[in-house]
Amino acid sequence: MATGRETGRVKIDYQKARHRMVETQLKARGITDERVLQAFGKIARHEFVDPGLEAQAYSDRALPIGHGQTISQPYMVAIMTQSLKPQPQDRVLEVGTGSGYQGAILSVLVRSVYTIERLEPLARRSGEIFTREGLTNIVQQIGDGSIGWALHAPYDGIIVTAGSPRVPPQLLDQLADGGRLVIPTGSSSSQVLKIVTREGNSFRTETSIPCIFVPLLGKEGWNSD
Ligand code: SAM
Repeated sequence: MATGRETGRVKIDYQKARHRMVETQLKARGITDERVLQAFGKIARHEFVDPGLEAQAYSDRALPIGHGQTISQPYMVAIMTQSLKPQPQDRVLEVGTGSGYQGAILSVLVRSVYTIERLEPLARRSGEIFTREGLTNIVQQIGDGSIGWALHAPYDGIIVTAGSPRVPPQLLDQLADGGRLVIPTGSSSSQVLKIVTREGNSFRTETSIPCIFVPLLGKEGWNSD
């Protein structure tokens, strides 16, 4: 992984920027899971942002990735990841591959990541980055993830990285016993993060922080017409 790159005349020390991001944006705001913090120290976020935005890759904000979509703010990726309580043997589904950054973070924390994206150009681009970064335990699909991905269910964790009007019942069905679903739900312009844990055939829901995500479009999401 590159640690520095010439951008014009300024050489950026990405490793240092990443370390600062972990300390000031994640640890300082209550991200405590050591494995999660290590994953953020390892994955090169500047490889996942659009060309020309590398200098902002470790800033405290979401960034555009084209097609009206975004790579989420590092803290939001971290709190969602920590809420999932990822374990090394887990199989996790991500809905909304986007840039691929969240999937890459998960790939170093769990056994396998299944990630689904409705926009082909984003799926193709993130796939190229996964290959370049040597992340071989990520399986991709292009399609409507609002109904999950039944083929590989059940999942120990499901993470939805777009805002949904409701908790899709198919995602609950695809959770393993003890599994956790992390999903922003609310209106198309603002949501709260919900964490749903499966306990046999019942589901326990906790409410986490307010958030703003691009809409989940599809059968169980917002209308895509
Ligand atoms: N996890 C991403 C990352 O690390 O960059 C952030 C993704 S962005 C906030 C949300 C993504 O969800 C967009 O790429 C969007 O196209 C995708 N999306 C929206 N509705 C979807 C659906 N029904 N199925 C799959 N992907 C969807």
